[in-house]
Amino acid sequence: MATDSPLIIALDYPSLDAALCMADQLDPVRCRVKVGKELFTRSGPAVLEALHGRGFEVFLDLKFHDIPNTVASAVQAAAEQGVWMVNVHASGGQKMMEAAVKRLDQHGLTTHLIAVTVLTSMQADDLAEVGIHASLSEQVERLALLTKQSGLHGVVCSAQEAAQLKKRWDDAFLKVTPGIRPSFAAANDQQRIMTPSQAMKEGSTHLVIGRPVTQAQDPMVALEMIEAELAV
Ligand code: C5P
Repeated sequence: MATDSPLIIALDYPSLDAALCMADQLDPVRCRVKVGKELFTRSGPAVLEALHGRGFEVFLDLKFHDIPNTVASAVQAAAEQGVWMVNVHASGGQKMMEAAVKRLDQHGLTTHLIAVTVLTSMQADDLAEVGIHASLSEQVERLALLTKQSGLHGVVCSAQEAAQLKKRWDDAFLKVTPGIRPSFAAANDQQRIMTPSQAMKEGSTHLVIGRPVTQAQDPMVALEMIEAELAV
């Protein structure tokens, strides 16, 4: 059954068993789950099958970036495996993103396709190092515009950037936000954090949350506390 929750729980585990052990403590009616590079590289499509079998909608977070035909084929492969959402790097350019959108359309695939603008781990001097002399927020805005013009459904961005992008595009353009820390949780290694309710108020449409739920003594209790925080 599909969920209308904005919560996406990051299953950052090194094995299928560990990921499923966590998934079995969650409720697919109350959240979606995210499968990233490590888990997918170790366990392959089996993890998608297992999560779908348990009723979860899956965000496959592999951030594709390659020539247009290769990215289009990878996005098609993800969509044909039934994932709810998949992503690419906007810096791969408009031709790459349009090829992916076109491929989904040609095959009648309704998977959400979103793009990463600038990785939140990057600062202005990291951008300069790769020859980009715009400020972070200019670069985010530029790549978000390119994403929108290419026909994708939204972006991955920090909550601060979601606020900036919401001024231009409403919730129909998805803003999927990591770096979320409920008031009860530790920051871990995240730098610029926001609570779930702050992030939603700022303009995020979906929240990616990992450790505050997956490392909680009782993950469903943590999820309920986040839901309660969002309801206020
Ligand atoms: O445990 P935590 O809530 O920090 O997990 C956040 C998830 O979002 C991880 O899977 C991480 O890789 C991902 N992510 C992030 N920051 C980004 C992009 C993705 O934390 N800019």
